[in-house]
Amino acid sequence: QLQVRDLQKTYGINQVLRGLNIDIQSGEKIAIIGPSGSGKSTLLRILMTLEAPNGGSVKVDGESVWTMNFNGQEKKANEAHMHRMRSKLGMVFQHFFLFPHLSVRQNLTLAPKLVSNVSGSVADQMAMDLLKMVGMDGKADAFPAQLSGGQKQRVAIARALAMQPEIMLFDEVTSALDPELVHEVLNVLRKLAEKSDMTMLLVTHEMNFAREIADRVLFFDSGVILEEGPPSEIFTEPKQQRTQEFLKTVL
Ligand code: ATP
Ligand code: MG
Repeated sequence: QLQVRDLQKTYGINQVLRGLNIDIQSGEKIAIIGPSGSGKSTLLRILMTLEAPNGGSVKVDGESVWTMNFNGQEKKANEAHMHRMRSKLGMVFQHFFLFPHLSVRQNLTLAPKLVSNVSGSVADQMAMDLLKMVGMDGKADAFPAQLSGGQKQRVAIARALAMQPEIMLFDEVTSALDPELVHEVLNVLRKLAEKSDMTMLLVTHEMNFAREIADRVLFFDSGVILEEGPPSEIFTEPKQQRTQEFLKTVL
């Protein structure tokens, strides 16, 4: 479903992604771990088309998301194509990015109504179903400023789901939360991982959580995937010394 080939990204002289290759099947739950600065967020931003790569390809369902010209510079194929590809993916960030001037319900219904031409009543119903799923249906008319971090993040997850993506990207969605609020967001992710057939890519520092829900773990180091495998392998008998060292510092 998702195929990444020789993906390259540089910022100035800093080569952040050095030829990434990834294959992900529909429905797989993938945990991405690795040291700070290894390129995890950069990969997710490129997949979400928030940022352009310098080389390589990304395909979703066999179709290129990014097309390159001969110089390896990025070039948007065309807006309609980009829009169609982008709608297959959803992303949740460390810092929520809710619309502050909209209610919780309106945060969920804005994009479906505007982008997908869903009717108001259908969008409202879907929003309430999703809010129920993340345990936030009681706060539908609240505004983001009135919510705790964990509540905001659950709303942000519901908002991304409202666009019905095939692939969900989560970038350290619990990292900005107070420790006692982390579990409520992890519970939502756990439920999603168990109940939905969506493909999920999670960048996380929660190793126990990764071990629990991931089908496969990718260990990033300096812009490449140094090692990958099922959690039972990566966490208990990593082959690479870098992986062993990293796990020692975080477990
Ligand atoms: P963390 O675990 O800290 O979130 P990460 O693996 O997500 O790290 P990235 O955010 O992908 O790492 O960053 C990889 C490298 O790219 C870092 O060296 C970072 O400084 C650099 N970088 C990221 N975004 C930019 C940018 N917009 N401009 C310049 N350099 C950037
Ligand atoms: Mg990051």
